[in-house]
Amino acid sequence: MANIVVIVGRPNVGKSTLFNRLVGKRLAIVHSMPGVTRDRIYGSASWDGRQFEVVDTGGLVSSDESFVSKKIRVQVEYALKEAAAAVLLTDGRSGLHPEDSHIAKMLYRVGIPFLIAVNKIDQLKDADRANEFFVLGRDKVLPLSAEHGTGVDDLLDELLKVLPDAALEAGPENVLRLLILGRPNVGKSTLLNTILREDRAIVDEHPGTTRDLLTITFKYENQMFSITDSAGLRKKAKVQAPIEFYSILRAINYIDRCDVVLLLTDATELIPNQDKKIAQLVLTKGKGLLLAVNKIDLARKTNRSEISALIHQAAPFLKGIPIMTLSALKGTRVDHLLTKVVSVYQEGQKWVDKHTLQQIVDDLRPPANRVRLINLKQIGHAPPSFIAVASRPLSTEYIRYLENQLRNYFGLEGNPIMIKTRIASFR
Ligand code: GDP
Ligand code: GDP
Repeated sequence: MANIVVIVGRPNVGKSTLFNRLVGKRLAIVHSMPGVTRDRIYGSASWDGRQFEVVDTGGLVSSDESFVSKKIRVQVEYALKEAAAAVLLTDGRSGLHPEDSHIAKMLYRVGIPFLIAVNKIDQLKDADRANEFFVLGRDKVLPLSAEHGTGVDDLLDELLKVLPDAALEAGPENVLRLLILGRPNVGKSTLLNTILREDRAIVDEHPGTTRDLLTITFKYENQMFSITDSAGLRKKAKVQAPIEFYSILRAINYIDRCDVVLLLTDATELIPNQDKKIAQLVLTKGKGLLLAVNKIDLARKTNRSEISALIHQAAPFLKGIPIMTLSALKGTRVDHLLTKVVSVYQEGQKWVDKHTLQQIVDDLRPPANRVRLINLKQIGHAPPSFIAVASRPLSTEYIRYLENQLRNYFGLEGNPIMIKTRIASFR
């Protein structure tokens, strides 16, 4: 499970202020995404060398709608099931409210570790106001002021105590962990069935240990695969809107545990916004990505390069990501798809040849007047990561140029290329 922390609480207690403080100001923003009704619902934070994701449920609860309204409660409960911990935020100025107790009860029912934080304690003399929140049943209540930042350090310290260790569930060696993502009805289950129906040895099939996910392990062309079926989960949890919120949350959890994501879309929509966001998330997390346009048997336009061009136009950041077409129902090009998945995986594992890299550096165009690129070195794989040492800061444009050159020479198709820069020090 990814380290997701969900902030819950009544409207106006200061959830989004706290969210911004956690992911925005003093802490490094790694990435953030536009959310449902607010600009951001999801962002990364780090504290004491550990990283976790913060989710603001604020946008799910509007001020004129009671949190206890059943519909919203059900939605937030689903969100919480994807999370590792929650912060129940309350308002120390207006005091304990019956809805705070309702939310606490819900958290106990879901069984998630949670902390109680009492916001708007702007001055030390008001700290006593936090005491009445002990009735919510926790050993500690944490007074803080999200606006001024006081008490936030203590909250972070406590959070790290309840979060599970960041260690990801590493799969067995040499097993390619594939995750199929896509909107409802694009054909995920059909594809999975087609993959498994054909002559492939299913090695193992068991419901995942966590929340009934089905993981299937099989062998194809000497490569062991394990596929996690996210479609199965969706069918169990028939949640209504806001779909985007859940799909993002769920995606965060799964993406951390896979090597390659196969994002399935269909020929009628190509790349809707929600898929763009998921694709961005996959790449930010450094995972391999393959986009597959399904139901090509129904499409008027079937030319793959034409479809690719349209998608790249709509989502330029997908340059370097392979785009395939297929019909999961008819089985057309499904083998081809798996071969491509293997190739994306292998490209991500690659260590490029040092000598060739040095030659490329020698041939590159100089960054700009009086800026010299001194060295380019690969420092990691899966995702391919490089460090560029230069005499002065490199422009974003130049970094993009470097990325393109690396792709031209080394392929690395389907993988995000991470380039860090460092300024050389001369003595
Ligand atoms: P949300 O609806 O729970 O997300 O609440 P917001 O973050 O939008 O905050 C609601 C109001 O409380 C805003 O006017 C904030 O400026 C205010 N607020 C947030 N944190 C603090 C705080 O620590 N002290 C005070 N005095 N006001 C705060
Ligand atoms: P999921 O929700 O993403 O798992 O989608 P399903 O696999 O349940 O498929 C949704 C519908 O699309 C079903 O009626 C499938 O038969 C249909 N479908 C899936 N793949 C194809 C395809 O390649 N061509 C056509 N024509 N229909 C497809």
